[in-house]
Amino acid sequence: MISIIGIPLDENSSFLRGSAKAPPLILDAFRSDASNMYAENGFNCGDSGKVKNFGNLQLTAGKAAMDSIQKVVSKELNLNQKVVSLGGDHSITFPIIQAYSQSYPDLNILHIDAHPDLYDNFENNPYSHASPFARIMEKDLVNRLVQVGIRTLNDHQKEQVKRFGVEVIEMNNFDSSLLLQFDGPVYISIDIDALDPAFAPGISHLEPGGLSTRDVINIIYQLNGNVVGGDIVEYNPDRDINGMTALVGAKLLKELLGKILK
Ligand code: MN
Ligand code: MN
Repeated sequence: MISIIGIPLDENSSFLRGSAKAPPLILDAFRSDASNMYAENGFNCGDSGKVKNFGNLQLTAGKAAMDSIQKVVSKELNLNQKVVSLGGDHSITFPIIQAYSQSYPDLNILHIDAHPDLYDNFENNPYSHASPFARIMEKDLVNRLVQVGIRTLNDHQKEQVKRFGVEVIEMNNFDSSLLLQFDGPVYISIDIDALDPAFAPGISHLEPGGLSTRDVINIIYQLNGNVVGGDIVEYNPDRDINGMTALVGAKLLKELLGKILK
Protein backbone atom coordinates (compact mmCIF):
# COMPACT_ATOMS: atom_id res chain seq x y z
CA MET A 1 0.00 0.00 0.00
CA ILE A 2 1.06 3.55 -0.72
CA SER A 3 -0.13 6.76 0.90
CA ILE A 4 -0.02 9.88 -1.25
CA ILE A 5 0.62 12.78 1.11
CA GLY A 6 0.25 16.44 0.10
CA ILE A 7 2.83 18.66 1.82
CA PRO A 8 1.90 22.31 1.17
CA LEU A 9 5.08 23.96 2.47
CA ASP A 10 7.00 26.60 0.50
CA GLU A 11 8.39 28.88 3.21
CA ASN A 12 11.92 27.51 2.66
CA SER A 13 12.02 28.61 -0.98
CA SER A 14 14.79 31.13 -1.59
CA PHE A 15 13.45 32.81 -4.73
CA LEU A 16 9.68 32.46 -5.22
CA ARG A 17 6.82 31.07 -3.17
CA GLY A 18 3.95 29.18 -4.82
CA SER A 19 4.80 25.47 -4.62
CA ALA A 20 2.57 25.10 -1.54
CA LYS A 21 -0.40 25.27 -3.94
CA ALA A 22 0.84 22.28 -5.95
CA PRO A 23 -0.49 19.08 -4.30
CA PRO A 24 -4.24 19.38 -5.08
CA LEU A 25 -3.48 20.52 -8.65
CA ILE A 26 -1.22 17.53 -9.33
CA LEU A 27 -3.94 15.27 -7.91
CA ASP A 28 -6.62 16.91 -10.11
CA ALA A 29 -4.48 16.20 -13.18
CA PHE A 30 -3.78 12.67 -11.88
CA ARG A 31 -7.51 11.89 -11.72
CA SER A 32 -8.54 13.89 -14.79
CA ASP A 33 -10.85 12.21 -17.30
CA ALA A 34 -8.49 13.45 -20.01
CA SER A 35 -6.46 10.28 -19.38
CA ASN A 36 -6.80 7.05 -17.39
CA MET A 37 -5.24 5.81 -14.16
CA TYR A 38 -2.78 3.31 -15.63
CA ALA A 39 0.98 3.56 -15.40
CA GLU A 40 2.90 2.46 -18.49
CA ASN A 41 3.88 -0.83 -16.84
CA GLY A 42 0.20 -1.74 -16.45
CA PHE A 43 -0.26 -0.81 -12.80
CA ASN A 44 -3.71 0.62 -12.07
CA CYS A 45 -3.18 3.70 -9.88
CA GLY A 46 -6.94 3.84 -9.33
CA ASP A 47 -6.83 0.61 -7.26
CA SER A 48 -8.05 1.88 -3.90
CA GLY A 49 -6.76 -1.29 -2.23
CA LYS A 50 -3.21 -0.22 -3.14
CA VAL A 51 -3.18 3.56 -3.36
CA LYS A 52 -4.62 5.72 -0.62
CA ASN A 53 -4.94 9.51 -0.72
CA PHE A 54 -3.87 10.78 2.66
CA GLY A 55 -4.78 14.39 1.78
CA ASN A 56 -2.95 17.63 2.52
CA LEU A 57 -1.08 18.04 5.81
CA GLN A 58 -2.00 20.99 8.02
CA LEU A 59 1.33 22.58 8.84
CA THR A 60 2.56 25.45 11.00
CA ALA A 61 6.05 26.81 10.26
CA GLY A 62 9.77 26.42 10.96
CA LYS A 63 11.04 23.42 12.90
CA ALA A 64 7.51 22.53 14.05
CA ALA A 65 6.47 21.99 10.40
CA MET A 66 9.54 19.82 9.77
CA ASP A 67 8.80 17.77 12.89
CA SER A 68 5.19 17.15 11.89
CA ILE A 69 6.22 15.99 8.40
CA GLN A 70 8.64 13.51 9.95
CA LYS A 71 6.02 12.33 12.43
CA VAL A 72 3.30 11.73 9.82
CA VAL A 73 5.66 9.86 7.48
CA SER A 74 6.99 7.72 10.36
CA LYS A 75 3.45 6.85 11.36
CA GLU A 76 2.58 5.69 7.84
CA LEU A 77 5.80 3.66 7.54
CA ASN A 78 5.08 2.00 10.90
CA LEU A 79 1.68 0.96 9.52
CA ASN A 80 3.58 -0.73 6.69
CA GLN A 81 2.49 1.91 4.19
CA LYS A 82 4.97 3.30 1.70
CA VAL A 83 4.79 7.03 1.06
CA VAL A 84 4.83 9.22 -2.03
CA SER A 85 4.77 12.91 -1.13
CA LEU A 86 3.75 15.87 -3.25
CA GLY A 87 5.48 19.16 -2.39
CA GLY A 88 5.89 21.88 -1.61
CA ASP A 89 9.48 22.88 -2.09
CA HIS A 90 12.47 20.55 -1.76
CA SER A 91 12.92 21.30 1.97
CA ILE A 92 10.32 18.60 2.71
CA THR A 93 12.69 15.80 1.67
CA PHE A 94 14.91 16.17 4.77
CA PRO A 95 12.22 15.34 7.37
CA ILE A 96 10.81 12.62 5.07
CA ILE A 97 14.24 10.96 4.89
CA GLN A 98 14.68 11.30 8.65
CA ALA A 99 11.55 9.13 8.94
CA TYR A 100 12.56 6.74 6.14
CA SER A 101 16.07 6.14 7.48
CA GLN A 102 14.59 4.76 10.71
CA SER A 103 12.48 2.18 8.87
CA TYR A 104 15.11 1.53 6.17
CA PRO A 105 18.62 1.67 7.67
CA ASP A 106 20.27 0.77 4.32
CA LEU A 107 18.42 3.45 2.37
CA ASN A 108 19.76 4.91 -0.89
CA ILE A 109 18.51 8.03 -2.63
CA LEU A 110 18.11 8.73 -6.31
CA HIS A 111 17.78 12.52 -6.56
CA ILE A 112 16.66 13.94 -9.91
CA ASP A 113 17.17 17.72 -10.06
CA ALA A 114 18.81 20.59 -11.96
CA HIS A 115 20.42 21.56 -8.63
CA PRO A 116 22.45 19.50 -6.13
CA ASP A 117 20.73 21.21 -3.13
CA LEU A 118 23.89 20.69 -1.07
CA TYR A 119 24.53 24.18 0.32
CA ASP A 120 26.03 24.06 3.79
CA ASN A 121 24.40 27.42 4.59
CA PHE A 122 21.94 29.25 2.38
CA GLU A 123 20.72 32.61 3.76
CA ASN A 124 21.12 31.25 7.29
CA ASN A 125 18.12 28.94 6.88
CA PRO A 126 19.16 25.37 7.75
CA TYR A 127 15.92 24.11 6.16
CA SER A 128 16.41 26.03 2.89
CA HIS A 129 15.32 24.14 -0.23
CA ALA A 130 18.93 24.69 -1.36
CA SER A 131 20.24 22.49 1.50
CA PRO A 132 18.15 19.33 2.19
CA PHE A 133 20.77 16.91 0.86
CA ALA A 134 23.51 18.57 2.94
CA ARG A 135 21.35 17.99 6.04
CA ILE A 136 20.70 14.37 5.01
CA MET A 137 24.38 13.62 4.35
CA GLU A 138 25.80 15.32 7.46
CA LYS A 139 23.43 13.21 9.58
CA ASP A 140 24.61 10.14 7.67
CA LEU A 141 21.01 9.04 6.98
CA VAL A 142 21.69 7.11 3.75
CA ASN A 143 24.16 4.73 2.12
CA ARG A 144 24.35 6.33 -1.29
CA LEU A 145 23.13 9.59 -2.75
CA VAL A 146 23.00 9.50 -6.56
CA GLN A 147 22.07 12.73 -8.35
CA VAL A 148 20.96 12.95 -11.98
CA GLY A 149 20.19 15.97 -14.16
CA ILE A 150 22.51 18.36 -12.32
CA ARG A 151 23.63 21.43 -14.31
CA THR A 152 24.37 24.12 -11.69
CA LEU A 153 27.41 22.90 -9.72
CA ASN A 154 29.45 25.80 -8.31
CA ASP A 155 32.76 25.56 -6.40
CA HIS A 156 31.12 25.30 -2.97
CA GLN A 157 28.74 22.53 -4.04
CA LYS A 158 31.58 20.66 -5.78
CA GLU A 159 33.35 20.64 -2.42
CA GLN A 160 30.20 19.35 -0.74
CA VAL A 161 29.97 16.58 -3.36
CA LYS A 162 33.51 15.50 -2.46
CA ARG A 163 32.96 15.88 1.28
CA PHE A 164 29.90 13.63 1.29
CA GLY A 165 30.89 11.23 -1.50
CA VAL A 166 27.84 12.10 -3.60
CA GLU A 167 27.63 10.35 -6.99
CA VAL A 168 26.69 13.05 -9.51
CA ILE A 169 25.63 12.38 -13.07
CA GLU A 170 25.75 15.86 -14.54
CA MET A 171 23.47 16.78 -17.39
CA ASN A 172 26.45 17.26 -19.71
CA ASN A 173 27.33 13.58 -19.17
CA PHE A 174 23.77 12.24 -19.20
CA ASP A 175 22.87 9.44 -21.58
CA SER A 176 19.23 8.38 -21.84
CA SER A 177 20.22 4.70 -21.70
CA LEU A 178 21.40 5.25 -18.08
CA LEU A 179 20.99 2.06 -16.01
CA LEU A 180 21.22 2.59 -12.26
CA GLN A 181 21.84 -0.33 -9.94
CA PHE A 182 21.08 -0.19 -6.22
CA ASP A 183 21.53 -2.84 -3.56
CA GLY A 184 18.98 -2.22 -0.83
CA PRO A 185 15.98 0.10 -0.72
CA VAL A 186 15.82 3.21 -2.90
CA TYR A 187 13.93 6.47 -2.37
CA ILE A 188 13.38 8.62 -5.49
CA SER A 189 13.18 12.38 -5.02
CA ILE A 190 12.07 14.23 -8.16
CA ASP A 191 12.48 17.99 -8.38
CA ILE A 192 10.40 18.99 -11.40
CA ASP A 193 13.04 21.56 -12.40
CA ALA A 194 15.27 18.65 -13.45
CA LEU A 195 13.14 18.63 -16.60
CA ASP A 196 13.87 21.14 -19.30
CA PRO A 197 11.57 24.18 -18.88
CA ALA A 198 10.25 23.34 -22.36
CA PHE A 199 8.58 20.28 -20.78
CA ALA A 200 7.81 21.73 -17.36
CA PRO A 201 7.70 25.55 -17.24
CA GLY A 202 5.77 25.74 -13.94
CA ILE A 203 8.76 25.94 -11.60
CA SER A 204 10.53 28.66 -9.63
CA HIS A 205 14.08 28.16 -10.95
CA LEU A 206 14.05 27.77 -14.74
CA GLU A 207 17.26 26.01 -15.81
CA PRO A 208 17.44 25.27 -19.54
CA GLY A 209 19.27 22.25 -20.94
CA GLY A 210 17.45 19.65 -18.88
CA LEU A 211 15.82 16.22 -19.07
CA SER A 212 12.78 15.38 -21.13
CA THR A 213 9.69 13.81 -19.55
CA ARG A 214 10.64 10.57 -21.33
CA ASP A 215 14.19 10.71 -19.92
CA VAL A 216 12.81 10.82 -16.36
CA ILE A 217 10.39 7.93 -17.04
CA ASN A 218 13.27 5.89 -18.49
CA ILE A 219 15.50 6.62 -15.48
CA ILE A 220 12.73 5.37 -13.17
CA TYR A 221 11.97 2.15 -15.09
CA GLN A 222 15.57 1.33 -16.00
CA LEU A 223 16.56 1.54 -12.33
CA ASN A 224 17.36 -1.86 -10.89
CA GLY A 225 16.45 -1.85 -7.19
CA ASN A 226 13.68 -1.93 -4.63
CA VAL A 227 11.95 1.47 -4.75
CA VAL A 228 10.22 2.11 -1.43
CA GLY A 229 9.00 5.71 -1.72
CA GLY A 230 9.50 9.08 -3.29
CA ASP A 231 8.49 12.65 -3.71
CA ILE A 232 7.65 15.11 -6.46
CA VAL A 233 8.54 18.68 -5.47
CA GLU A 234 8.93 22.27 -6.67
CA TYR A 235 5.93 22.44 -9.00
CA ASN A 236 4.93 26.12 -8.86
CA PRO A 237 1.39 26.64 -10.24
CA ASP A 238 1.88 30.44 -10.36
CA ARG A 239 4.38 29.93 -13.19
CA ASP A 240 2.56 27.20 -15.13
CA ILE A 241 1.18 27.42 -18.67
CA ASN A 242 -2.15 25.67 -19.38
CA GLY A 243 -1.58 23.33 -16.43
CA MET A 244 1.05 21.43 -18.43
CA THR A 245 3.46 21.10 -15.51
CA ALA A 246 0.70 19.77 -13.25
CA LEU A 247 0.14 17.12 -15.90
CA VAL A 248 3.86 16.25 -15.98
CA GLY A 249 3.73 15.93 -12.18
CA ALA A 250 0.69 13.63 -12.47
CA LYS A 251 2.38 11.52 -15.16
CA LEU A 252 5.52 11.10 -13.04
CA LEU A 253 3.31 10.27 -10.03
CA LYS A 254 1.68 7.43 -12.00
CA GLU A 255 4.97 5.99 -13.17
CA LEU A 256 6.51 6.27 -9.69
CA LEU A 257 3.51 4.42 -8.18
CA GLY A 258 3.79 1.82 -10.94
CA LYS A 259 7.49 1.34 -10.27
CA ILE A 260 6.97 0.96 -6.51
CA LEU A 261 3.92 -1.30 -6.58
CA LYS A 262 4.31 -3.54 -9.61
MN1 MN B 1 15.70 20.62 -5.56
MN1 MN C 1 15.95 22.18 -8.46
